[in-house]
Amino acid sequence: MQFVKDMNLKISIAHLYPKLLNLYGDIGNVITLRKRCEWRGINVEFDEINIGDDIKEHDLFFIGGGQDKQQAEVAQELFKNKENLLTQRDNGAVFLGICGGYQLLGRYYQPNCGDRLQGIALLDVYTVAGKNRFIGNVTAKTNLVVPETLVGFENHSGLTYLEGDTRPLAFVTVGNGNNGKDKTEGAYYKNVFGTYLHGSLLPKNPHFADYLIELALKKRYGKDIKLSMLDDTIETCAHKALVGKAY
Ligand code: GLN
Repeated sequence: MQFVKDMNLKISIAHLYPKLLNLYGDIGNVITLRKRCEWRGINVEFDEINIGDDIKEHDLFFIGGGQDKQQAEVAQELFKNKENLLTQRDNGAVFLGICGGYQLLGRYYQPNCGDRLQGIALLDVYTVAGKNRFIGNVTAKTNLVVPETLVGFENHSGLTYLEGDTRPLAFVTVGNGNNGKDKTEGAYYKNVFGTYLHGSLLPKNPHFADYLIELALKKRYGKDIKLSMLDDTIETCAHKALVGKAY
């Protein structure tokens, strides 16, 4: 295990379709990833991917949430890149999808009105729109990071169900999560992670941000690289203020 100090490291991060999928400030996740790398002297090659752009190889991809209409436009574009992104997933690339972006990383999203949106099946999940919207704070427990809590805000009508080898990211203790029935929240398979947690997620869950960065470093350098500690006093205070909070 090597510690990241003066190792002259680099990772490449791509933000997928931010002009269309950036609900509730999900761009805060990209800002967090970039700053937590830069604060440690890790160089970040950043690429914003918009409609019509080619998608090159990257270590980490982010896709945010959005309304059904924007999702439809992005779904078409993403589907053109399905084989490319499936290959990158299988080569260890890290993906983080939030809400609408999460839904499109699955097999499909069936909105209340309109055609079914084909996803790119990086995750073996499917989503169907429910009659009600789930809106509110969420606390969920995960065994992937310490502390074992993830906190955020949900606002979705989609009900997501997991199949095959795709595992729940966490289990809700406050809020609805994937479908309001099975207590699961989010999903992951290999290094692909999806969640309904807006907020944005990573500023208030710095431990999960660092987990994703370490996975991206491992993908690029082929070995475990432990990130040096940062002063997360403010981030931890924000996290703790939300744990267990419904309103
Ligand atoms: N349009 C999707 C839904 O309502 C996703 C919403 C979102 O990204 N917040 O489930």
